[in-house]
Amino acid sequence: MKRVLITGAAGFIGSHLSDRFIREGYLVIGMDNLLTGSLDNIEHLFKLKEFDFYHHDVSKFVHVPGHLDYILHFASPASPIDYLQMPIQTLKVGSLGTHNLLGLAKEKKARILIASTSEVYGDPLEHPQKETYWGNVNPIGPRGVYDEAKRFQEAITMAYHTYHGLETRIVRIFNTYGPRMRVNDGRVLPAFFSQAIRGEGLTVFGDGEQTRSFCYVDDLVEGIYRLLLSDYNQPVNIGNPAEITIMDFAREILRLVDNPKAFIDYRPLPVDDPKQRQPDITVARKVLDWEPRIDRVEGLARTYEYFKTVVTPG
Ligand code: UDP
Repeated sequence: MKRVLITGAAGFIGSHLSDRFIREGYLVIGMDNLLTGSLDNIEHLFKLKEFDFYHHDVSKFVHVPGHLDYILHFASPASPIDYLQMPIQTLKVGSLGTHNLLGLAKEKKARILIASTSEVYGDPLEHPQKETYWGNVNPIGPRGVYDEAKRFQEAITMAYHTYHGLETRIVRIFNTYGPRMRVNDGRVLPAFFSQAIRGEGLTVFGDGEQTRSFCYVDDLVEGIYRLLLSDYNQPVNIGNPAEITIMDFAREILRLVDNPKAFIDYRPLPVDDPKQRQPDITVARKVLDWEPRIDRVEGLARTYEYFKTVVTPG
């Protein structure tokens, strides 16, 4: 049986990846320190003999007995509020954690895929963002702890590839959404859904003219799965190019939830908030024969079903 280690397995994306690899017939070893992850996301896996779990912080030395075929490094705080509250942990898991896992991959002769991010492009001056764009990042701003850790992560991963011949894969993940997102993680979709369901104000930051491009989690997981099994070792953008302003996104959620008490509540724009973001997925289309299949209408409907189960209506 092929064995895969997934760090951040109790998180939003990590738990969906764990499901997928179990469905594909792998033995999944999940690892998480539960700083932002939740056992609720993987509760259903504990009864399976194909799933094992280590409660561990990958910023410290990582030991896993037995062989490993693949490692997927998805452990990290991942929302702007998390970076503000946990800046040091964010830096450590992207840097020291990645170093530990690269060492483990080398020891086990395993292929490693690391979760990078559209944040490596910062507040981008090129639009849409291609993998060749080097980015516009403020290293000492509030998002710098995440952005720079992820940029270091890419650098050390390429160094292990070049100098040790390690098999590496780098996915640059754009805004992703779906069931199991943390209700209070501060990101725009959980915020808007929970506010709309509770009949509160939807907190639109700034004038709401900034854009994002949202990818449904199943599409992302498919892209990651294909990238892992491909022979492509350069970074690949995975995201949905359908771009929308945050204001229009708020209106879509208001229409879907249809709670007459909900309204738009303008708040100040956070420091260094990127003005626009849209993936160029030419590489993913060509190398992985991948593109997103689930549009926002379908994806938001599925996600709403989830938020109805975790948010009390008001
Ligand atoms: N945003 C917002 N209201 C919120 C949370 C976020 O208007 O309650 C905006 C935020 O300013 C940004 C966009 O939505 O422009 C996406 O923010 P998120 O925190 O989801 O992730 P980011 O893409 O910035 O990493």
